Parts: sequence; C-alpha cells; structure tokens
Amino acid sequence: MLKNCPLCGKLFADTGAGCCQKCYDAYRNYEVEVKKYVEANPNCSAGDIVKHTGAPLVVASQMIQDGQFAMKGRVSYPCSRCGKLILTGVYCTSCQQKVQEATSNAHRVARENERKYLKKDKQKQKESGLNILKILRGK
Ligand SMILES: [Zn+2]
Ligand SMILES: [Zn+2]
Repeated sequence: MLKNCPLCGKLFADTGAGCCQKCYDAYRNYEVEVKKYVEANPNCSAGDIVKHTGAPLVVASQMIQDGQFAMKGRVSYPCSRCGKLILTGVYCTSCQQKVQEATSNAHRVARENERKYLKKDKQKQKESGLNILKILRGK
C-alpha cells in the first residue's frame, strides 16, 4: 500500500514502519542518540533533545509520545500545532481534536475526489493530498 511518508512526504510502500525506509533508518539512529541524551538529562525538554542530538522535533516528539521515556522524568515539548507545552501526544488536547477532524475530513475528501478523478478533478485531488501532509507536519 502506497502512502506519503509523514516525515519527508515521499511516496513509499508501507510495511508497518509508518514512514519510508530512509526516514526509518534515520529514526533508529536518532533514537539511540536521543535515548542517551535523555538518560543523562532526565528532565530535558523536547527542544533540548533537538538542540543536543540534532534529531528532528517530530522524532523527539514521537519517542516521547511512544512513552519511551516513561521511567525517566517527564519531558515536556511543544504541541506541533500551537506550541503549548504538553507531556504526551503530538498535539495538545484542543489541537488533537481539530487535527483528527481535519484529517478525517481530508481523507474523506481525498476518497471522494479519487472517485471523481477520472472525470475531472485532478487538481483538487492534488490539493487534498497536500492538506493531509500539512496536517501531519503540524502546519
Ligand atoms: Zn520519509
Ligand atoms: Zn496545540
């Protein structure tokens, strides 16, 4: 099944990793660095992680979201959408809700446009694809 990589936006065949092979490899490398850093600095923020390991914020956030640091202090980091400091997830509660609505709307629109695709809606489909990426990147 082909998907857009949520990290780099490229099309890839999803085998369960959730992102393309390149980003997955990069993610594994960052994971090691980030873990080391958080072990040495248990009360750091996601911003510190990004600054000191060079890992993209989305990777640091993802690891925190996965609960990988549950035993090590609480790491706060900004909501990917509004910047409010949060402790779990990618978004604060209110953004989470908006993003979920927007994502399911975008998926629904994309599916509808797919059906129309052969008739006329090439441009629209491209646009809704971009919207999904924007949402995934928190823009
Ligand atoms: Zn990628
Ligand atoms: Zn937010």
